[in-house]
Amino acid sequence: MLTLNCIQFSFISKIEYYGFTMHPESENSLPKHCGQALFVGSDVYREAAFGKHHPLSIIRVAGVVDLCQMLGWFDHEQFRQSPQASVDQLKKFHHTDYIDALIEADTTGSVTREVRERYRIGTMENPLFAGLFRRASTAVGGSIRAAELAMEGRVVFHPSGGTHHGRANRASGFCYFNDPVFAILTFLEMGISRVLYVDLDAHHGDGVQDAFAQDARVMTISIHEEKRWPHSGLVEDRAAGSARNLPVPRDFNDNELDYLIDNAVLPLAGDFKPGALVITCGADALEGDPLSRLALSNSGLWTAVEKLVQDNERSVVLGGGGYNPWTVVRCWSGLWGRLSGRRIPDALAPEIRSFLQGFECDLIDQDEIPGNWITSLADPWNDGPVRSEVSRLPGLVLN
Ligand SMILES: [Zn+2]
Repeated sequence: MLTLNCIQFSFISKIEYYGFTMHPESENSLPKHCGQALFVGSDVYREAAFGKHHPLSIIRVAGVVDLCQMLGWFDHEQFRQSPQASVDQLKKFHHTDYIDALIEADTTGSVTREVRERYRIGTMENPLFAGLFRRASTAVGGSIRAAELAMEGRVVFHPSGGTHHGRANRASGFCYFNDPVFAILTFLEMGISRVLYVDLDAHHGDGVQDAFAQDARVMTISIHEEKRWPHSGLVEDRAAGSARNLPVPRDFNDNELDYLIDNAVLPLAGDFKPGALVITCGADALEGDPLSRLALSNSGLWTAVEKLVQDNERSVVLGGGGYNPWTVVRCWSGLWGRLSGRRIPDALAPEIRSFLQGFECDLIDQDEIPGNWITSLADPWNDGPVRSEVSRLPGLVLN
């Protein structure tokens, strides 16, 4: 069935196929893994989390699963359950006292002031909520599982992953643990000698960079909005040598991302020669996200991920940030479609439009929702000039 989809795909022109004109350089053949992609998930993400007014209280991964099901893109053979990581597994990166504090906070539903200040849990940013430990450790278990499955020579999509700010000894930026670190550690444990990590979230992938700053087996590359929290990841920041950072200006467009992928990320990857790839594909760099000011389309992000995945035999693609339910759910659903060789529809069926219309978000004014967030899956390519602040970056990170 999947092979058939790939064959059918190759007979249809890309322009006609996507239903809109794509930037010429963005036209790619499908990843060579077409037909082998897997989706890792869990029903734990259907449970309410983070409290009512937190930016992550919106529908996200459960919406992706539902939308993909409505599109007929979710067959049983391609889905794998995310197990919960054990405490022993968590200890491979996180400190025992922090894990214990998180379990205690989850069990009692409260923290002392000392615990709050030391571990940054029970705060507005990283709130306590029922099921917190299970949810956070399931994201870690999912990223471990994703890397194990990718070792078979696949691309594995785990959109509930991407908690890239989590620290060994504390929570940070809505992240309690750091699941991308575990995907990388799993590849290393399974015998991969070099792992490339690429972070396309709007925020600097600080937790992952710092976790492997002294480890020559891992190269971390982060493209993120400049002058935005956590304010690390300046272009001259290379950690101990294995990190590269590409901070980009507001209104960063698809041509600019494509330029950086072609002229910085792919050349760096070519020199590093990784045996496996981990991507954090936050959806908060998309136009319309309330917590950042970049202007990518979902088509631009899908093309970037495809270009990276094509050159790697083993790839794990994680989610990450994203605080607009319409752009997040459409982006990650379409990303799964592209990675698994499905046809992106030109327009969405009435029941899918109703589904998208039912989303709610405190941070988005309902009157300002563009029609295409409801009627289509793919955004048009966001054309624009490659500004000098962007075109200078490859020269600064390649030497
Ligand atoms: Zn982010």
